[in-house]
Amino acid sequence: MAVQLIVSCPFCGKEDVGAQAVVAWPAGKDEFGRKPEGADTEAAAICGHCSSAMIAYLRCGGDPKVFNPFREKAAAYNSLHSLHGTGCELLGVRPEPPRPDVPAHLPPRVERAMLDGELAFLRRDWNGAAAHYRKAVDRAVTVILSQMEPPIDPERKMLGQKIALLENTGLLPAPMLDWIRIVKDQGNFALHEDDRDFENAGEIEPARRFARLLLEYLFTLPKEIELSREGTSQED
Ligand SMILES: [Zn+2]
Repeated sequence: MAVQLIVSCPFCGKEDVGAQAVVAWPAGKDEFGRKPEGADTEAAAICGHCSSAMIAYLRCGGDPKVFNPFREKAAAYNSLHSLHGTGCELLGVRPEPPRPDVPAHLPPRVERAMLDGELAFLRRDWNGAAAHYRKAVDRAVTVILSQMEPPIDPERKMLGQKIALLENTGLLPAPMLDWIRIVKDQGNFALHEDDRDFENAGEIEPARRFARLLLEYLFTLPKEIELSREGTSQED
């Protein structure tokens, strides 16, 4: 039949799932560095769970033009072989499975809410994603207010009240405050609206992009400035 690979399927999301490599060939060109480094063999593989096709990249060693054990066994339609028996190593599959996009250097509770939003978005739970992005933005605003000088106590305040407090600090430009209000309203809509739901990625993508932008602006950039200055200050 083929060679059995164990992959994370980029289409059904199943982890450690069997995929059958049914045909293989020497790796072609890679002018843009899109393939795993060191791949000398590629194969078409079918996910055992959802039957979607992906390209698997392998390192088999030796002269890739020579008929290698992997290609021979993938072409053996009447038997199923283990990868181990071919002496080849699986380097990865393309397309790559989608990954959550969470900015670096976030306070732990903000990071958790953003990660939950990303995981909901990737599994197409649009209402869940909207609610979690709202939570991430709310937690970020809370952290920022409590760090102000003099400190503003944001605990037990509604997000709308926190936005008003934030507006007074002059820390964020008006379009960003407007966007915080939109993410707040969308999160409320996702949780409380009776007769309508978010139906597709396009409805959530702008809030997702803004949540990421806000978190990068409030946490990632300041930390990176600190780190770059540490890196250069020793040369003064
Ligand atoms: Zn699959």
